Amino acid sequence: MKHANISLFVPHMGCPHQCSFCNQKTISGSIKQLTPEDVFDTLNEAERHNNNPLNTEIAFFGGSFTAIPRDYMVSLLETAKPFVDKGAFGGIRISTRPDAIDEDVLSILKKYSVTAVELGAQSTDEAVLKLNKRGHTRNDIFKASELVKNNGFSLGLQMMTGLLGDSFQKSLKTADDIVSIKPDTVRIYPTIVLEGTRLGELYKKGEYVPQTTEEAVRLCSILSEKFYKNNIKVIRLGLHSGGNVEEGYLAGPYHPAFGELCESDVYMNIAKEKLKEIKKGKVTIFVNPREISKMTGQKGSNKEKLLREGYEVSVKGDDSLNKYEMIIHER
Ligand code: SF4
Repeated sequence: MKHANISLFVPHMGCPHQCSFCNQKTISGSIKQLTPEDVFDTLNEAERHNNNPLNTEIAFFGGSFTAIPRDYMVSLLETAKPFVDKGAFGGIRISTRPDAIDEDVLSILKKYSVTAVELGAQSTDEAVLKLNKRGHTRNDIFKASELVKNNGFSLGLQMMTGLLGDSFQKSLKTADDIVSIKPDTVRIYPTIVLEGTRLGELYKKGEYVPQTTEEAVRLCSILSEKFYKNNIKVIRLGLHSGGNVEEGYLAGPYHPAFGELCESDVYMNIAKEKLKEIKKGKVTIFVNPREISKMTGQKGSNKEKLLREGYEVSVKGDDSLNKYEMIIHER
């Protein structure tokens, strides 16, 4: 059954950091602080409509959950835990900074039924972390990941592409480092330039050039395939639509169907590789039935590209195939 999250956004207005891409300080006036009452009301409502309790998690997102004032953090968890205890939801996941993890905070999370911890790693390149004013080191990422895993939590890592000072090669190295850590899940976010951020200022002065959507799709599809081959689940590719992204958007590879574009790109490359051994003409490509639209591409774009290369493609489903597996028959 499909996994779902009940997302609760915890803004961190008192954050002492100033990450280059983050606009939480400048928009703090318009963000309402999440209260325990909000948590109760949201979960109470969600419980009534939830027919998939085991596969639904309560998710405290916002990036710095364990760095917010401790009493406040506990008050949110105290409200959420009874819902997990009575079986209304499968567990609680939180996202936080690598330097906001230690044995003490992990023991509190455990006590309150947290099952998964996601760390905003963003990059494992020391220079990129510094330039983007992340305020933590590469070593913090490795250390925190080990602590999270050793304490029995599911580990998620988040990485970004196209940061200030970043490059294709540096992103590949970050992905290799993440593979070596062996998290359970990964999220990949191409950097979007938002109004009210340091990146926004640099962009306006011409001192920062964001990735194009094509560059970001190419890179993220390579990263996604790498994680897939290493049995690491990619649970998000690109920012969610809505929220303050569209409002504060200045520049960068934002696309509401970014994940789908990347996965289509992966299929295109697998197909191209396999077609090298097949003579041009009519072919049928078989993929898992759930993946047909990705192989076909948005508005048939993959089929069109292959047609230009001499292959008239028909895409069909085959239940015996897993994601990214394909069989090609000449017709
Ligand atoms: S992204 Fe950076 S600046 Fe923004 S809240 Fe998180 S740690 Fe603070």
